[in-house]
Amino acid sequence: MTSESKPDAFPQLLSRAYEEHHSEIAFIAGGKVYRLARQRLGTITDMLVKETPFGCSMPILFMEHQGRRFYVLPRHGEGQYRVSAPFVNYRANVWALKDLGVSRIIAWTGPGSLSPDMEVGDFVLPGDLLDMTRNRSGTFFESKGIGLLRQEPVFCPTLQNAFLSVFSEDERPVTSGVVYAVSEGPRFETSAEVKMLRQLGAGLVGMTLAPEAFLARELEICYHPIAYITSFAEGVAQIDDTERRRRSDKAINRIPGITWSLLDVIPDTPFACSCQDAMLRYKQRGVIGDDFHEWIE
Ligand SMILES: [Zn+2]
Repeated sequence: MTSESKPDAFPQLLSRAYEEHHSEIAFIAGGKVYRLARQRLGTITDMLVKETPFGCSMPILFMEHQGRRFYVLPRHGEGQYRVSAPFVNYRANVWALKDLGVSRIIAWTGPGSLSPDMEVGDFVLPGDLLDMTRNRSGTFFESKGIGLLRQEPVFCPTLQNAFLSVFSEDERPVTSGVVYAVSEGPRFETSAEVKMLRQLGAGLVGMTLAPEAFLARELEICYHPIAYITSFAEGVAQIDDTERRRRSDKAINRIPGITWSLLDVIPDTPFACSCQDAMLRYKQRGVIGDDFHEWIE
C-alpha cells in the first residue's frame, strides 16, 4: 500500500475499515448483481472511490460474509446503468482493484444468447472473446511497448476450475468454453450483426468484458467471467417478457449462493495458470520492475 493510497487522500471513504480490510478477490458486477450485493451478498464494511492515473474508479464496496472478505465493484456505477458500457472507465476500475491488492477478479455479466440452446436464466462460462468494440482505451501502456501479451487462454484456468467445481452439482450443467462477442453498445445488435456473430462462432453477445479482461492481464490479475443469460439476441428465439423476467430473476437469486461457494473454493483451488506472470518476460529483460505503478511511466 503506498502512502498516496491512505484514507486521508480519499474523502469518499466512510470509515477506517480500509486499513484493516484486505482481500485478493474482487467481483466486478453489472447493475443487477450490484443491487443484489448491496442487499444480500454480505455485510458492507466500507466503500471507496479510488483515484488512479486514469481517473476515478467506480465506488468499490468492501464486503464480508462469514469471515471471508471481498470487494464488489459496479461497472456501471451505483444507479441503474449510470454509465453505459462504452463509457465505463475500465482502466480506472482494474487499476484500482490492483492497487487494493486484488489478484483475482470474477466478472459477472448478463449477456444475450446467440443460441436457442443457451436459454434465459442459464449460467455459462465464456471461454474466449471476440472484441468488436471500437472506441475504448484497451491498454495501460500507451507510452511503452510492453503490451504484446498472449491471450491464450484469454481467461484464467485456475478460476475456471473453481467455477466448474461450484457448478458441478447443478441440476442443469453449466455450458463452458463459449465465445463471448463484445459489442460497442449501448444499443443492441441488429439482426444482421447477430447473424454475423453467430457465423463467427460466438455464442453470447454482451458489451463489457473487453477491454476489462485484457487490462486485467496487463496487471497480472487472474480474471474470469461468469455469464447469466438475460435475453436472446435479436432473432435468435422468442420468449414472453414475463417468462424472460421470471427466469432472469431466478438466476439472479442464485448469485449469492454461487458467490459464497466461490469464496470458499477459490483459495483452495490449485494454481493452473500463469496470469500472475503475464509481464515476466519484460521483467526478466529489465524493461520493467516488480512495482506495477512504474510500468506506465
Ligand atoms: Zn490465473
